[in-house]
Amino acid sequence: MIRTLALAVAGLSALALTQVASATAPVRERTLAAPIPQARPVPMATSTVSHRYWPVVTSLSQATVAPAHLFDGKVQGAPLRSFDTRRPADPSKPQTRRHVGVDLTAAEGDTVVAMEGGRIVNFYPFLARAASVGGEKTYAILIQHKDYVALYGEVRASSLSAKGLKVGDTVAAGQPIGVVSGTAQLHTETYVSGVTRNIKWAVGSAPPREMRNPTQLLLDTALTGERIYPKNVRLAAS
Ligand SMILES: [Zn+2]
Repeated sequence: MIRTLALAVAGLSALALTQVASATAPVRERTLAAPIPQARPVPMATSTVSHRYWPVVTSLSQATVAPAHLFDGKVQGAPLRSFDTRRPADPSKPQTRRHVGVDLTAAEGDTVVAMEGGRIVNFYPFLARAASVGGEKTYAILIQHKDYVALYGEVRASSLSAKGLKVGDTVAAGQPIGVVSGTAQLHTETYVSGVTRNIKWAVGSAPPREMRNPTQLLLDTALTGERIYPKNVRLAAS
């Protein structure tokens, strides 16, 4: 308990992040995500932790608009960044890869923080960027939270070391865990407790049992969670 608290204080003060209470935001209604795929939906990730943090520390205004297909048929955010869209990356190949996460708006170099407290269970090379844009090897951080495992993907290879962390360490909610890579987005996935690696899901096969759709969790976190802004951001007085 004391160790967790000390880590939280050290992690936050090291970056001197400014926290802005979500209570200042106007009251909005809860947005519901559509079940995807409709015929056999992947269950939504759920959490019994009421106080969560938005995982990206950024000044971008659209940061908390999680790309999503909504229950009422509307689409918010960039459609190709939402859960279970096909990847049109290479038109010469069949689109057999499902996007099993949600891509959150971020800028290269933005800080990534833990949505909830938990333990880092893995850190490994994830997506490699095309050679034409420098060939950066991005990484994924997996954290076992109280009720689920979250994957924080497309972060810099130096993420954990830059934050003084390693696999096995305990992190507090809102503690910096990594840095957004050159993809300029945070790719998030969620799984049932115990998972330590991302699981792929090919078109034409049943969804993996361990997979969870992170969309509702992100919509709820955008609504009621705490957002941390970079310290150099000047917010207009309201
Ligand atoms: Zn993605």
